[in-house]
Amino acid sequence: MANFASYNFSNQKALVRVDFNVPLNDKFEITDDTRMRAAVPTLKKILADGGMVILMSHLGRPKDGPSEKYSLKHLVPHLSKLLGGTTVLFANDCIGEQAYLTAGMIRPGEVLLLENLRFYKEEEKGDEKFAEKLSKLGDVWINDAFGTAHRAHASTAVIAKFFPAEKRLFGLLMEGEVKSAEKVLHETERPFVAIIGGAKVSDKILIIENLMERATDIIIGGGMAYTFMRAQGGKTGASLCEEDRLDTAREIMKKAEEKGVCIHLPSDSVIADKFAADAQTSVAPSNNIPDGWMGLDIGSTACDQFSNVIKKAKTILWNGPMGVFEMPKFQHGTKVVADAIAEATEDGAFSLVGGGDSVAAVNQFGYTDKVSYVSTGGGAMLEYFEGKVLPGIAAVQS
Ligand code: AMP
Repeated sequence: MANFASYNFSNQKALVRVDFNVPLNDKFEITDDTRMRAAVPTLKKILADGGMVILMSHLGRPKDGPSEKYSLKHLVPHLSKLLGGTTVLFANDCIGEQAYLTAGMIRPGEVLLLENLRFYKEEEKGDEKFAEKLSKLGDVWINDAFGTAHRAHASTAVIAKFFPAEKRLFGLLMEGEVKSAEKVLHETERPFVAIIGGAKVSDKILIIENLMERATDIIIGGGMAYTFMRAQGGKTGASLCEEDRLDTAREIMKKAEEKGVCIHLPSDSVIADKFAADAQTSVAPSNNIPDGWMGLDIGSTACDQFSNVIKKAKTILWNGPMGVFEMPKFQHGTKVVADAIAEATEDGAFSLVGGGDSVAAVNQFGYTDKVSYVSTGGGAMLEYFEGKVLPGIAAVQS
């Protein structure tokens, strides 16, 4: 694998897999361009070198081939703007004559955006012939789509075999993601505090199990905390609880004890009489919630309890909110945790926020610049921390 920063793209056709899967409204206007902006540094470096950029991406989940709704052509004007007025051509097919002709026409400093890869079923199937056709469009392949790195699709992984090792690269976004994740999992400075929240235990079992091998402390908040409370004989009222995961929760607690990992559960909760923004609220011990009431955020004692652990950390991973942060009455716990992470980071800790809604929370509360790294890849980052090999990473490295 070659190094992106030292690669000279002059006169090279760089075939870049990006994740431009942005949300569009009814008028096909982009409502959140975060994913497009994330790819800009990579594209600018190629263009500045005097290279040509050929972009491949998916958009949405088209079912039956080409459709207006999922066309990447809607992104062209905004992409050109993000690149400071650079010419962005568009090919209304990602393979075939038009794609090859346009790719043959572009000049150094220009960009060609190919139509949605998922208009072909072959993309998600990881079809080798389709990957080979795509590979013919460029001299060098760059994977900068961390959001799809956990998928072995034609453009994200299979295509790699049609480029020699020195023509396979991570883009800057992908490089940043991989480096941050490695720093947390393999170059860990202890204490390593993992904060896991969100709705369900079932979604987070694998990540907790993998972190058990590495973390000093695991903080468990959000809806999933109540399954743990119940598993220990607590009374959780109408709080979220996965009855079929009580044994799993017990096994996790037992394993943590054996391994000397400290599991922290919220001692108290903000409880509500219904799942609504205008609910009546009160505070109760998390293991003694009255019937008909539900825990929707961690309480103030739990906030102190969690903050104290976080502030002593040297490495922090945060995945999942502490409560229903979408509703103002239940966002305090998530904010306090974000605050403690910001403070620890200022004191020299490395903090990574990745996967799930914690990224949305960090953005919403304005903490993006106060943590070391905010991952753009939800599912991909989650799978990385579950200890899985991500095909999009392995394809470039191998
Ligand atoms: P995840 O995608 O797994 O990170 O889960 C995020 C979702 O969990 C958010 O939509 C939160 O509103 C929800 N959540 C967090 N805490 C609770 C809770 N105590 N009860 C119900 N849902 C919760």
